[in-house]
Amino acid sequence: MEAALLIRELEKTRIDGAVLGSGHGDYDDHRKVWNAIADRRPAAIVRAQNVRDVTKTIAIAAKREVLLAVRSGGHSLPGLSTCDNGIVLDLSAMNEVVVDPIARTAEVGGGALLQHLDAAGSHARLATPAGLVSHTGVAGLTLGGGMGWLSRRFGLTIDNLLAADIVTADGQLIHTSADTEPDLFWGIRGGGGNFGVVTKFRFRMHSLGQVVVGIWEYPTSDCQVALRGYQELARNAPRELTTSFTLTSSSIVVTAVWSGSSDRADTILPQFGRLGRAVSGLHSSMAYVDLQKRNDDHLCWGRRCYAKGGYFSEINSKVIECMKDAIASSPSPDSEIYVMQLGGAIADVAESATAYSGREASYYWIADAIWDDKTDDPRCVAWARSTAARLAALSLSGNYVNEQADAGKDVAFTAYGAEKYRKLARIKARFDPTNLFRLNQNIEPKP
Ligand SMILES: Cc1cc2nc3c(=O)[nH]c(=O)nc-3n(C[C@H](O)[C@H](O)[C@H](O)COP(=O)(O)OP(=O)(O)OC[C@H]3O[C@@H](n4cnc5c(N)ncnc54)[C@H](O)[C@@H]3O)c2cc1C
Repeated sequence: MEAALLIRELEKTRIDGAVLGSGHGDYDDHRKVWNAIADRRPAAIVRAQNVRDVTKTIAIAAKREVLLAVRSGGHSLPGLSTCDNGIVLDLSAMNEVVVDPIARTAEVGGGALLQHLDAAGSHARLATPAGLVSHTGVAGLTLGGGMGWLSRRFGLTIDNLLAADIVTADGQLIHTSADTEPDLFWGIRGGGGNFGVVTKFRFRMHSLGQVVVGIWEYPTSDCQVALRGYQELARNAPRELTTSFTLTSSSIVVTAVWSGSSDRADTILPQFGRLGRAVSGLHSSMAYVDLQKRNDDHLCWGRRCYAKGGYFSEINSKVIECMKDAIASSPSPDSEIYVMQLGGAIADVAESATAYSGREASYYWIADAIWDDKTDDPRCVAWARSTAARLAALSLSGNYVNEQADAGKDVAFTAYGAEKYRKLARIKARFDPTNLFRLNQNIEPKP
């Protein structure tokens, strides 16, 4: 359908938000997404204000068979929240967060960012576990699983999801929870944006005071010894502690975040500063909201990125050697292999309880190429692909759908495995039989 006709048709429905076509002064700003590789030109961007706008946009996309991208924080690695020639349904204005400090819950709009959730919680000294970068969208992160500094203690973001409101392909607004439409609720906890547009989430929150953070930097040449020591400490860590390390061509940065009572932090955290010849270190207490912003600049908008992840059961010497070898040919200074500790409360939930796959994993890894110059695309993508393939050979089966720069049925099938994929395909057939919501790690509807 021609762009001008599509925009006219959208405007005729009296969308309360704005409808932007390529002639609009704000079009270029609003078509941008986090990954600069995804430089796409939608026919229309609908900046939804409310559920009615969402329903109207879905109806037109379905009736006119126009490609529909759904966008919250815009962080999709493969750029699935934008498209060429279709409609981008941009929920970023629907970002209200209402915290109930007595019930310890948060109602969160479908376009809110982690920074909105974290800030609203901090006033009541409450938090819901989410990701590590405050400009990530709550919606995309949650629908894939959601892992971060509090997950070992309080579970994945989906483990704290109590209910969601979702507009499905036929325009119905469905309230889903463990008791109402339980299959849909199972599917949205890991199945991504396959089933409709979530306009509101309801989360459980937890009491949280200050966190204690330790960050130590070691030379890459200390890799074997430092990471073997790291694995020994991490293996016995209590669930109030979450650790990670980032390997670049120049250093290994080990981070340890303690969310329990601060007196124990002083004995546990400093051990991570004695893994080798630390060239620098920091150990301090800070507000959780400040911790959440620490990676915002490093992983800022507008750079080019290709990344793929997977799960380790342990950081053994084969894994360390493979990472050390791969990072030696890193294509840019900011490219990295990042490893985050899982386990704890994540593994308390049965693998079959949610669509998310990988409950038994002890670590999550991601090979992350980050660069700026378009002409470097082939070599940066090639490095991340080959590093990911090598690490995948040492990894557990299953994968995290939220951090795969490639998209397609194979990605989803490999991530979920045959049994979960079949269940997801049945749920998809019920709620989105024509696959209107296909810009995601797509599940083909199959009754
Ligand atoms: C810099 C960066 C840091 C990250 N850190 C973490 C981390 O610490 N932990 C972690 O678990 N993940 C992390 N991720 C991965 C992140 O969870 C995914 O990229 C996620 O999809 C981002 O969600 P979004 O809303 O920002 O993205 P968007 O690009 O807006 O959306 C991604 C997809 O989610 C779906 N979607 C979005 N909004 C809705 C909605 N309201 N209803 C239905 N479907 C919707 C759509 O299918 C869309 O294509 C990170 C990604 C980046 C780029």
